[in-house]
Parts: sequence; structure tokens; C-alpha cells
Amino acid sequence: MKRLWFAVLTLLTLAACGDTETKSSQYIFGTVVEITVRGVPKAEAEAAFAELAEGFRRMHADWHAWKPGGELMRVNAACGTGEPVRVSAFTLPLIADAKRYRTLSDGLFDAAIGRIVGAWGFHADEPEKGRAPPFEAIRALAAQHPSMDDVSIDGDTVTCANPAVSLDFGGFAKGAAVDWALATLRARGIADAVVSAGGNVGTSGRHGDRPWRIGIRDPKTWGVIAAVAAEGGESVYTSGNYERFREHEGVRYAHIIDPRTGWPVEHILSTTVIARDGSLADAASTALTVAGVEDWPRVAARMGVDQVLMLDDAGNLYASPKMAARLAFPEGPKPRVIVRDIP
Ligand code: AMP
Ligand code: MG
Repeated sequence: MKRLWFAVLTLLTLAACGDTETKSSQYIFGTVVEITVRGVPKAEAEAAFAELAEGFRRMHADWHAWKPGGELMRVNAACGTGEPVRVSAFTLPLIADAKRYRTLSDGLFDAAIGRIVGAWGFHADEPEKGRAPPFEAIRALAAQHPSMDDVSIDGDTVTCANPAVSLDFGGFAKGAAVDWALATLRARGIADAVVSAGGNVGTSGRHGDRPWRIGIRDPKTWGVIAAVAAEGGESVYTSGNYERFREHEGVRYAHIIDPRTGWPVEHILSTTVIARDGSLADAASTALTVAGVEDWPRVAARMGVDQVLMLDDAGNLYASPKMAARLAFPEGPKPRVIVRDIP
């Protein structure tokens, strides 16, 4: 009898674990991160959340582009003088990734443009208000061509050959953070999880017997323009010019900057990329926003992403064939999708 009870109890516990979702809300880079894990006893989930909170706290401190005291600020100070600087094993991989994304994106994603981002007033919790900075000042900064190609890595030492370089990981740090969180959960034996940071979503394992349904925002109505069913391991990243901007006399200046000109991107409302690597998806969604309506297929091919959705300010939707095939639309008239092949 005792044995039977034990067996029943075990089964009940397993059933409870199998279905249980445990959630946590955390905070990093000005964004709430929602973590949901499945099939894990609450205590195990809570222990994992504590480890994630500690990691996010360190990322927030060390990868911050403008709050003093962190490692990135120390690297940026050294870049200004050209002095070599030793970098921790925590931050070095991001510098290497930033160099790779610069090359892959043909210079459209360049994390070395921190000074330009700052000059536009985006190095503040609330973006600056008021008229655009003087055209001449921005042009002068862009003319110094700060680039990740000016940043060299030798062992654990980083040297910047251009004093205009200032690192800003804002375009891919959320992706790196979400990827790290999912890998950390997996290392703890938590296979089924979803981590969402400000509308960017990374998934791992299974969501019961159904996929995760991820909505892509319509920035005009704040509703959902389309949805995709994501399977475990996929990440869905959206870069939107509506997320952070400064506005003056009806003109909006977005926080996504074209490194070639130093000027904010115009006419693209958002770009969504689905890929298995969240950091790459994050960088690519920013890079393709810079590339714009004509050039995005070329840059997507270079970056190795094949699932792209772009919305422009005329209301046109552009998609790669693989993305177009999996879009689901809310009820009502279906929007026309302009499908473009990736070369
Ligand atoms: P996201 O929301 O991922 O598109 O990231 C936007 C952030 O990336 C901005 O707030 C800047 O910190 C940074 N950023 C802006 N333009 C670029 C660019 N062309 N390349 C790399 N990072 C950028
Ligand atoms: Mg991005």
C-alpha cells in the first residue's frame, strides 16, 4: 500500500512538474525581461532565476554604454587615448562579435558609433528632447569613420586605432543576454524555456505540444501586424524606430543610425528577423533597418539570415520567402506582402 501511494505521489509530482510554468520578471538595459520555464520544481526555477538575475546585473553594469563605472566605459576611455586595455573574459566575446557583425553587415551594423548615438541624445534613460544636434557636428563625427575595424584584439588586450571609436552594444546586447540566459537554464537541466526582453523573444525546448505564438507589433495601431509560430531554439527579434526616438516639430529622429552618415534611419518602422542565434538576429534586425527597403536582401544574405519581415512608413510589408510562408495575420483584410528573394 505504502508503495502504491509512493508511486501515485511520484506520478502526481511529475504531472505537476510537466505542466508547471514558473515565471520571473527581471530588468536589464532599460527593459523588463520575462523568463518562463516549464516542467521544473519551483525551487529549482527560483535558484536558476537568481543566477540569471546576477548575470543580468553584471551585464547591465559592465556593458552599459553611458553609466560610469562599468567595463565598457573603461574600454571606451582607453579607446579615446589609443592605449591598449585588458578586457575580461565576460566582455571580450562581445567585442569579437561586434567586429564580426560589422564585417558581415558591410559596415551597416557598427557598434563603434557610440559617440554618434550619444550626440543624438540616446545615451540617457529618457532620450533627449528638442531639435536635432547641429548637422555639422554629426557630419564631423561621421567623417572620423569610427569602426569596429579600428578595434583590434590580441589575447585579452584590446586596442583602438581611432580615437573616435566608442563602443555601444545597444544593438545586440539584448540578444546576447537572452542567449546567455537560455544557455544557463539548459546547463541547469532546464530545457523548456522562453525569455523575452522588450518584445525580443528567445525560445528553448518545447512549449507543451504546441509552438510559441509570437506577435509582431504594428507600431501604428500598437496591435499585432502578424504572428509567427516559433519552435524551440528559434529567436524572434524586432528592431523598431518607434522604440526610442527624439521628436522635434513633428520630425522623429530614431535611435537607429546609419554609420555612413551619422543620421538616423528614416522610412523604416521595423524589421523582424528570426534566427537560431539571438545575438545575430538582434544585430541583423538593426543592420537591415539601416539597409532599408532596397538593400536588405543583400545584407541579409551576407549576415546569413533568411527570415526577415520589414515594415516601412508607407505601410508596405516586405518579407523573405521563408518568412512570408509562416506569417499568420489577425482577422480582417490581409495586408499585401512584397516577397523579396535573398540572393
Ligand atoms: P535595436 O533596438 O536592437 O535596433 O538597437 C538600437 C540601438 O543600437 C541603439 O539605441 C544604439 O545604441 C545602437 N545602434 C544604433 N545604430 C546602430 C548601428 N548602425 N550599428 C550598431 N548599433 C547601432
Ligand atoms: Mg538589434
